[in-house]
Amino acid sequence: MDIYSALKIYFGYDKFKSGQEKLIKGVVNGSDVLGIMPTGGGKSLCYQLPAVILDGVTIVISPLISLMKDQVDSLSEMGIWATFINSTLEQDELIDRLKDIRENRYKIVYVAPERLNTSLFKDLAEDIKISLVAIDEAHCISQWGHDFRPSYLEIPAFIDSLEERPVVAAFTATATKEVIEEIKHLIKLNNPIESVVGFDRPNLFYQVVKVSDKFSYLLDYVKNNFQDESGIIYCATRKTVESLTKKLREEGLSAISYHGGMESDERQNNQDDFIFNRTRIIVATNAFGMGIDKPDVRFVIHYNMPKNMEAYYQEAGRAGRDGEKSHCILMYSPSDIVKQKLIIQNDALSHEREEILYKNLQYLVDYCHTNECLRSFILAYFGEEGENSNCKNCGNCLDQSEMIDVTVEAQKILSCIYRTGGRYGLTTIIQVLRGSRNKKLLEFNLDKVSTYGLMTDYSDTAVREIAMTLVSKEYIYITPDKYPILKLTSKSREVLRGQVKVYHKRELIERKDLTKEKEEQRKVEGNHNYDNELFNKLKELRYEISKEKKMPPFMIFHDSTLKAMASYYPQSKDELLTISGVGIKKYESYGELFIGLINAYCNEKRINVHEIRKKEILQSKPERAKRDNTEDRYKETYKSYLEGLSLVEIAKKRNFTVNTIIEHLIKCDKNGQLIGWSIFIDDPSKEEKILNAIEKVGLERLKPIKEALPEDISYEDIKIVIAKNRLN
Ligand code: ADP
Repeated sequence: MDIYSALKIYFGYDKFKSGQEKLIKGVVNGSDVLGIMPTGGGKSLCYQLPAVILDGVTIVISPLISLMKDQVDSLSEMGIWATFINSTLEQDELIDRLKDIRENRYKIVYVAPERLNTSLFKDLAEDIKISLVAIDEAHCISQWGHDFRPSYLEIPAFIDSLEERPVVAAFTATATKEVIEEIKHLIKLNNPIESVVGFDRPNLFYQVVKVSDKFSYLLDYVKNNFQDESGIIYCATRKTVESLTKKLREEGLSAISYHGGMESDERQNNQDDFIFNRTRIIVATNAFGMGIDKPDVRFVIHYNMPKNMEAYYQEAGRAGRDGEKSHCILMYSPSDIVKQKLIIQNDALSHEREEILYKNLQYLVDYCHTNECLRSFILAYFGEEGENSNCKNCGNCLDQSEMIDVTVEAQKILSCIYRTGGRYGLTTIIQVLRGSRNKKLLEFNLDKVSTYGLMTDYSDTAVREIAMTLVSKEYIYITPDKYPILKLTSKSREVLRGQVKVYHKRELIERKDLTKEKEEQRKVEGNHNYDNELFNKLKELRYEISKEKKMPPFMIFHDSTLKAMASYYPQSKDELLTISGVGIKKYESYGELFIGLINAYCNEKRINVHEIRKKEILQSKPERAKRDNTEDRYKETYKSYLEGLSLVEIAKKRNFTVNTIIEHLIKCDKNGQLIGWSIFIDDPSKEEKILNAIEKVGLERLKPIKEALPEDISYEDIKIVIAKNRLN
C-alpha cells in the first residue's frame, strides 16, 4: 500500500499536513528523520502511518503513560493494531501482551523509556523484527529542555543493543537550537531528514485582557463564547482553582477542578468528564495538560499569568489542536508578576539561573504590554519572524483603538514615586495620586506630598495601567519582594524632562470591550459554512456512541469531520468516505448510523442536496477560479456533473473526450468534491470483474487489466472503478 492510500484508508485524510509527507517518505525509504512540529502539527501520524506500511513492528517511545492507552484506543478505532507496555499493567497482562507481540499481532508497541533496557523487553526485541523506533517528545533527552527525563538517556543504549539497527525517527515541538543539537547527538540520528514546521498556529486567536474585575470578564466570556464547547481555565494555585470552580458553578456553568492536591481518583474522574464532554470547563493548575490530547478545546484562558512565554505557549497551545478556530486569552494582573518573581526568588538555585528566569518572565510581561501583533511577538520569541506584522487574528491586530499621549500622566506617576522617596508599592502610589483618605496614608502624612490628589479624575485601573506600561518600558522598576516597591530608573528622567513621550491605548484605560473582536472572529469563523442544527444532531449521535463505547467523542469523529458532514450532507458510502477524517474502518463502524441521520434530516427538512451542491459550486471562490484556468476547467466539468448529465453528455457539452471528463472528475474527487462514481457503472458485475482483474495483474498499467477482461469492458469502466474504490 502506498502512503496516500494508507492516509485515506486508515486515517480518513486526503492531504498531508505540512512536513508530514517528507518525514513519512523518509521513514518508508529507510532514513532516520527528525520532525520539529508545533502542538497539533500531526506528529503522531508521521510514525503511525509508516508503521502500517513497514514490515515488522514499530516501537514508539513516549514519556506520557497516560496517553498510551488513548493512542492505542484511537488506533484500534482506525483498524491499526497497537498496544502498550508500561507500569500500569499487571504481571499476567504483561506476559500475555509480550506473547501477542511475539506472535506479530501488533504493528505498533508503545513503551515507556525506563522499560527499554529491562531484560524482559530486550528478550522481546531479540525475537521480533523492529523496523522503526519512533521517539515522541524527543526533547526529554536534553538537559537544556524544560522537560528533561533521565530515562530518555536509555534510548541510545537500547537502539545500539539491537542486532539490526532500525530506522529511528524523533519528534518534538521544541525548537531551541541547543535542544535540537542535543537530540541529534544523543540519539545518534544517522544523517536524518529534517522537517521544521513553523510555530505559527493560525487558527488560534490571541488576546491579553486587562480588567480590574477578572471574574465578571470571565463570566461574560464563557457565557457568550463557544457555549457548547470545551475550554480550560488555568489558575496559579489550587485555592484559586477551587474557588473559581465554585463561583462558576454557582452561576450555573458546567465546570470542574483539576489540581495536584486532589485525590488521584477524583482527578482522573474530572479529567475523564472533561475529555468525554460531560463537563464543559475544566479549571486547573498547570498540573493539567501533559498527556491530554483532546483536540477540540475551543478556549484556553489564563486566569493568572504563567511563569514564562514557553510555558504560556505550551498551555495555550492546548486549544484547537484540530485546526479549528479557538481562543487563547491571557488575563493580565500585576500582582501575578509579583507572585512569579517571589517564586523565582525562592526556587532559583543560583544567581545566574535567577537572572534567566527573570528574563523569561519579563518576556511574557512585555507580551502583555505590547501594542504590536501578539502572534508576531510570540513567534519572535521562538526565533521566527512573523510573516506579517498584522495577523488580523489577535487582540492587538483587531483592536482599532486609538493611541493617546499619556506623557503628562506618566510624569505625575513618576514624580509621585520620587516625592514619596521610592518607598511605596503600586497600590499606595495610586492612592496618593487619586487623593485617597485611607487611614494609613494619612498616618504617614502622604496627603501632604505635592502629588497628592493629582489624578483624582482617573480610575484606579487607569493609573495602574499607565504605571504598568512604564514598568514594561523600564521607566519604573518594581523590586522583586514580597511587598514590591516602585523605584525610578536611570531612564525615568527622560520622561520627567519631557524628552520622550509615552503612549497608551485609549481603550485599555477603560474596560475592555471584546464585542468588536468577537464580531471579527465570527467573520473568520463564517468561512465554515455548515448547518448548525445538523452539526448539533451529529454531535448528539457521536455522544451517544461515545457513552456506549466508553470512548471520548473525539476518537469517533473530530468536530471538523462532523462540520464537513453538516456542510456536504453525504448520503452514501462513497460520499461519506470523501469527508476528511472518515477512513474505511470508521466507515464500517459508524458510517451507516451517520448516513442514516443525515438522510433523515434532509428528508425532514426537505433539503435538496443536489441543489445545494450546485449552488455551492457556482458560488465557490470565484476569484481563485479566475486565477487558475485548469481549476476552472475541472469546475465546469463538475458543474455539468451536478446537473445530472451522463459522461457522454458532459463530454459533448464540454467538447472533451469521455476519457478527459473522467480525468477531470478524478481531479475534483481528489480536491475533496463529492463524486458518486456508482452512477457511472451501469452493471455492478462489471465492477466485480474489474476488481478481480486488478487483484490478479496489479494496478501499475491499465493495459494488462483491460486484456484480462471481457471485450465489453472499456478503459473508461476500469478508470471509474479505480476511482470509485480509491485505488489511485
Ligand atoms: P501533535 O502530536 O503534533 O501535537 P497530533 O499528532 O495529535 O499532533 O495531531 C493533531 C491533530 O491533527 C490530530 O487530531 C490528528 O488527527 C490531526 N491530523 C494529523 N494529520 C492530519 C492530516 N494529514 N489531515 C488532517 N488532520 C490531521
